[in-house]
Amino acid sequence: MSMREGSAAAGTPISSVNHGQPDPAGRTSVHSFALTILGAGSATPTLGRHPTAQLLTVGNEYMLIDCGEGTQFRLIEQKIRPSRLRYIFISHLHGDHYFGLPPLLSTLNLSGRTEDLYLFGPRGLDEVLTTMFRVSDSRLGYPLHFQPVDPIQPSMLLDHPHLTVESIPLEHRIDCTGYLFQEKPHKLRLLRERLPDDVPVPYLKKLKEGFDILDETGQVLYAAAEFTEAGPPARSYAYCSDTRYNELLIPQLQGVDLLYHEATFLEDNAQRATEVFHSTAQQAATIAAKAGAGRLMIGHFSSRYKRFDSFLLEARAVFPETYLAAEGETLEINKWAH
Ligand SMILES: [Zn+2]
Ligand SMILES: [Zn+2]
Repeated sequence: MSMREGSAAAGTPISSVNHGQPDPAGRTSVHSFALTILGAGSATPTLGRHPTAQLLTVGNEYMLIDCGEGTQFRLIEQKIRPSRLRYIFISHLHGDHYFGLPPLLSTLNLSGRTEDLYLFGPRGLDEVLTTMFRVSDSRLGYPLHFQPVDPIQPSMLLDHPHLTVESIPLEHRIDCTGYLFQEKPHKLRLLRERLPDDVPVPYLKKLKEGFDILDETGQVLYAAAEFTEAGPPARSYAYCSDTRYNELLIPQLQGVDLLYHEATFLEDNAQRATEVFHSTAQQAATIAAKAGAGRLMIGHFSSRYKRFDSFLLEARAVFPETYLAAEGETLEINKWAH
């Protein structure tokens, strides 16, 4: 097996749904930033529910967040080719968050992958994988770059052309980190209707970067302020998997557009939640409210619950914009009113 440790390199910019292409109005449209829920259950196997896994698509970039048992089958169900994955983020080493990873890595090998794969997760994950591949005499045909995540301090993990990814230290029974995905600011939008047709393309590029175009004598030919408007706002997603209620998270989550926060229990089990390092729906909502999040998605419900209406009721009493993580659904992350 070839497994390398170190910082993940910035990815190649990849075009996406109209990314960078002028729309009919002559403006620049923006790529998609969407979350697909592959699994939203917790540790005990439950028919019809699957352990945690999520797919974040940013333009054509596919990022997997946690990889519970059977995740590769969830990807097939969603008609997502696993070969499209380039980044995988694992929150912690409880099995319901990573037991799907070794088979997924093996499948990528079987399918002849040669492209780099970047894996972020707690120290120890590398040992698990190395042992599994060693005892099965497997050799990966693709470079797997592992970056251990500091469970104590938030740190910048990835600087990608579309976004940055930071770790969010959580409070769980073992080392556990969430992840904050923040889009980079979008370029300015050109107001093409105000510009003559014959403006050279390099000028247009400079205007979109906010530069004025000057003539040889230093006179302003085209002022960026006159021919551009602000681009679409950058969006953000925070993933907080298993954790106790912890207000230390709030500064890092401030103003996030979509917050996923676990809600393993209802409020009548608040005591138990604290004992086993999990949260209640009301606690998740309190974090969302205090952080000024745009929306909250809750999941990781204990298998003791058969229905989830009460989770919504309890959470919405504190934070009305709360939704259940629904397996198989895709949500386009927007700049919702905060
Ligand atoms: Zn869990
Ligand atoms: Zn856990």
